[in-house]
Amino acid sequence: MSIQSTYREIRKTVPADVDILLACKTRTPEEVLAAIDAGATDLGHNYVQEAESMAAALGERSGAVRWHMIGPLQKNKINKALRLFDVIQTVHSFKQAQEIQKRAEAVGKHLTVYIEVNIGEESAKSGVPPEQEVLEKLAREISGLKNLRLEGLMTMGPFYDDPEAIRPYFRKTRQIFDHIRSLKVPGLDLTVLSMGMSDSYRVAIEEGSTMIRLGTIVFGPRQT
Ligand SMILES: *Cc1c(COP(=O)(O)O)cnc(C)c1O
Repeated sequence: MSIQSTYREIRKTVPADVDILLACKTRTPEEVLAAIDAGATDLGHNYVQEAESMAAALGERSGAVRWHMIGPLQKNKINKALRLFDVIQTVHSFKQAQEIQKRAEAVGKHLTVYIEVNIGEESAKSGVPPEQEVLEKLAREISGLKNLRLEGLMTMGPFYDDPEAIRPYFRKTRQIFDHIRSLKVPGLDLTVLSMGMSDSYRVAIEEGSTMIRLGTIVFGPRQT
């Protein structure tokens, strides 16, 4: 099946209130354009450099979609990231959020951020440990930063062949999300829960995901 029909088929099976973000790593601009033609609204990139070449290749079509940073953001890449992305999904500390705030203010930009939660507490993965108090404190702190709008939580979750094994982690992330929402922090409107990938998105949606991030299932296996 073509990328266009695959995207449309998946879009039909996913509830309308769940956003689909396309994880673009290793994909060509032609492949990404095919998905945009089929109605894709959100693109995710793991590296600033990757997003930069994709944006250049897409030209004016790049304005038709929202751009999300879904990989770790290095301090020396923040300025470039601010020019490219609408959303940074991988904020993991107040210090990092302050760095982004400082540079965003300097260029007069407002942007959306999500906090990345390391729900499996895996040393190889980035993100904030899934402790309610830690996340609550961070959410309150980031809400005070003028140029950042904290709108969501993002998690990768541990990798298992069986998506059912990931379910408890997705459930726990949803509980943390609901808890922070229940605090009704002034100026904080948490609406996005970004979790679920090609192998796990159905389970993630059952556990309350509002944004799934798909690569393989739309574009096919990665060559590299
Ligand atoms: C690659 C990637 C995805 C999508 O992975 P697939 O298994 O190809 O669907 C989602 N989120 C992040 C952060 C990724 O790097």
